[in-house]
Amino acid sequence: MNGLMMGTQLTLTGIMRHAQQNFPDSEIVSVTADNPLHRYRYGDAFARIAQLANALQGLGAQSGDRIGTLAWNDYRHFELYYATSCSGLICHTINPRLFAEQIAYIIQHAEDQWLFIDPMFVPLLEALSDQLTSVKGYILLTDSANMPDTTLANVHCYETLIEGHPSTFDWPDLDEQSAAALCYTSGTTGNPKGVLYSHRAMVLHTYGVLLPNVFNLQQHEAVLPVVPMFHVNAWSIPYAVPAVGAKLVFPGPKMADGETLSKLMNAEGVTIAAGVPTVWMALLKYLRDNEETLTSLNRVVVGGSACPWAIMEEFEQRHGVYTHHAWGMTEMSPLGTYNSRVDETLPPEEARTLRLKQGVAAYGVEMRIVDAEGKELPRDGVAFGALQVRGPWVCERYFKAGESALTADGWFDTGDVATIDSKGYLGITDRTKDVIKSGGEWISSIELENIAAAQPGVAEAAVIGVPHEKWSERPLLVVVPTVGAQLDRQTLLSAFEGKVAKWWIPEDCVVVDEIPHTATGKVSKKDLREQFAEHRWP
Ligand code: ADP
Repeated sequence: MNGLMMGTQLTLTGIMRHAQQNFPDSEIVSVTADNPLHRYRYGDAFARIAQLANALQGLGAQSGDRIGTLAWNDYRHFELYYATSCSGLICHTINPRLFAEQIAYIIQHAEDQWLFIDPMFVPLLEALSDQLTSVKGYILLTDSANMPDTTLANVHCYETLIEGHPSTFDWPDLDEQSAAALCYTSGTTGNPKGVLYSHRAMVLHTYGVLLPNVFNLQQHEAVLPVVPMFHVNAWSIPYAVPAVGAKLVFPGPKMADGETLSKLMNAEGVTIAAGVPTVWMALLKYLRDNEETLTSLNRVVVGGSACPWAIMEEFEQRHGVYTHHAWGMTEMSPLGTYNSRVDETLPPEEARTLRLKQGVAAYGVEMRIVDAEGKELPRDGVAFGALQVRGPWVCERYFKAGESALTADGWFDTGDVATIDSKGYLGITDRTKDVIKSGGEWISSIELENIAAAQPGVAEAAVIGVPHEKWSERPLLVVVPTVGAQLDRQTLLSAFEGKVAKWWIPEDCVVVDEIPHTATGKVSKKDLREQFAEHRWP
């Protein structure tokens, strides 16, 4: 027997309507390339979103068309999110930090019809435009006074394009399974793959993000996504924040700039911010060097890579900010797990161990770890294996792929290796392709990196597997010193003694000025492995 409840479709249009009706006065503040501080309210934003939807219709965009964006976090990008998805178009956010060939590949593969781009990406697109056969034209995200000269064909100015259009739009009744947004993985192995998010997945994911043991957002809060809107929809912040009517603060192109970030946070009363570890390192360094602090921020969400303890400790001790460790991936919209506040009565060592883990599955996500034969491993915090997930906001197949991305029994293999303990805490030990195999046994690079990063004078640490005659591979520690610090190889290596099994201790350590990062801010282990492929063991 079926239940007898309404079949209301779960769509982003529902979030938009809710915010428009209930929170018209909540603010959106943005830094943009053409305005150091733009400020308006949800009411104004949704009126302009309707204007933009009308303009898109005027351009001839048809339901299901992909509309590409190469843009920073700001109010115009926010307008694009809703105007496209809620009018039946697909918002395709493109990471401008990828290699030019990858950007061209992604635009071609997605068959983007129109590209909305920040003026600073004009030279990049000019160089690629010959290859972009599906693109009908370009809209520059600025006003007429700031339009640059360009050789691009069929160029519009965003403000001129939407001007004069009605501030209401006849939003279609969308099927919740219809596509809302598209984001490509960064393709560290092979070509990038497209993850096509449905309205239903985005709405359920928004509920997941808002749970009390996840972001726990309240209307009186101000939220600053440092995570780019081109990286998995800024972890859903542009959907979740309007759903509760909180204030949105967008850092624009200045997201890696500690000074802009801290000033913006303090001036706008930001209470929660989210981003990858590298941006927090930059912010903490700025605050340390300038003896400044954060006056309103009470928590940060850190994900994308394992968060070193040094970040958690410095945030808490110097600035009274709690760090929540989270794990997810593009294929998971991205929320997988979240480390909410640990029990304050726990002994410090225990609390630290727990907080370095990636947290507990958000309700909606199921996880399991399996061995090489696909047999489920115990949830004892010790056994580690391939991490698989399932749930309503997990990708079933990649865009344009002929076949499912799932295992025969319906799970998505994350490509991560992990432990899960009896309380549900996930501990990521590695990405499958970064696992170090020494003498047939696996060594967790993340655990070694955590130990190294906690040593005085270490700004950043990475551990990679490098070929070894006897053991096939051995761990090599690569560290970047903090400014002026003198690091000693032997001292660094002896820091591991007593903390891990003897055979886990890195075989050698090298000090470098810089560690390469990927377009999403992770340590690029692939580049590091290439760099040290010929490393001579002592
Ligand atoms: P990319 O496109 O760079 O692969 P994703 O965000 O999709 O970007 O990357 C997801 C991967 O990032 C995960 O599979 C995992 O390996 C890693 N990751 C994400 N969060 C964490 C975390 N908190 N700790 C360790 N690894 C993480």
